[in-house]
Amino acid sequence: MSTAIEWTNETWNPLTGCTRVTEGCDHCYAFTLHDMRHEVYTRDHGIYPNGKPMPAQYARPFTEIQLLPERLEQPLHIKQPKMFFVNSMSDLFHGQVPDDYIFQVFDVMRKAHWHTFQVLTKRAGRLRRLGQLIDWPANVWMGVSLENDVLTPRADALRECPAAVRFLSCEPLLGPLPSLNLTGLHWIITGGESGQGARPCDPEWVRDIRDRCVASGVAYFHKQWSGRTPKANGRLLDGQTWDQFPAVRGCGAGACLNLASPRLLAKGYRVCEGCAEAMSAMNSDNTQAFAREADPALNEVTP
Ligand code: SF4
Repeated sequence: MSTAIEWTNETWNPLTGCTRVTEGCDHCYAFTLHDMRHEVYTRDHGIYPNGKPMPAQYARPFTEIQLLPERLEQPLHIKQPKMFFVNSMSDLFHGQVPDDYIFQVFDVMRKAHWHTFQVLTKRAGRLRRLGQLIDWPANVWMGVSLENDVLTPRADALRECPAAVRFLSCEPLLGPLPSLNLTGLHWIITGGESGQGARPCDPEWVRDIRDRCVASGVAYFHKQWSGRTPKANGRLLDGQTWDQFPAVRGCGAGACLNLASPRLLAKGYRVCEGCAEAMSAMNSDNTQAFAREADPALNEVTP
């Protein structure tokens, strides 16, 4: 399903449901959205006001983890290369998701080598344990979410994970992150909270992270400021939009094909030298766009 999330193309939810872990979960959009629909489902016997049947997952509350194996193969049927955010409505590494199901999700991602998959979790402990048992495909980017300084050990767990790209989502950012160590990380996303009762995000916390990313050569993306809606206060940081994407490191032919997406190219997606060769075989429009992305000066900031 296509999404308005700035750093991806599509969402893929082979399971749904989750439970809160830390204060970043307090205003979880997936929780609110699912339980609103669950309320309608219960009240109106599973029928939308327009008379259409509601998806069966809304029969149960968000706190019940529901595996949706009928969705497992969805990416395999999409032939155009996409960037997928995996489980926007859950957490793949939640304790109630069986190991075997997690491995099946990775199998699909491995088979769908022409797509790129962004997996994000707050369950860094389980990622650390299972990460050692997974044969990591080059087209999977693994990330952890953290919202304040006491949670920076999640980044330590991520560092142990042999994914081609390791990234952090610091959204909602609820405090400064002075203990954050950027070693071994490829991409940092920051963002303020949105929605009713959104907690503030101090620009100084964001500047500090940006400055350390720039100094360390880590790609940096600022998604939004806190506000009533995601777009209420825009996303400029010191007058600029920060839309960097990580260079794809040691990727295979499948990951290269993601560069055919004009949307990602327009967003400032970067690429490694190995991918450059593969791209040169593609059509001239893409090759020109690719050459632009390969220019390090253009990778710094997209105004
Ligand atoms: S881990 Fe993510 S999906 Fe789960 S409750 Fe927290 S914010 Fe929501």
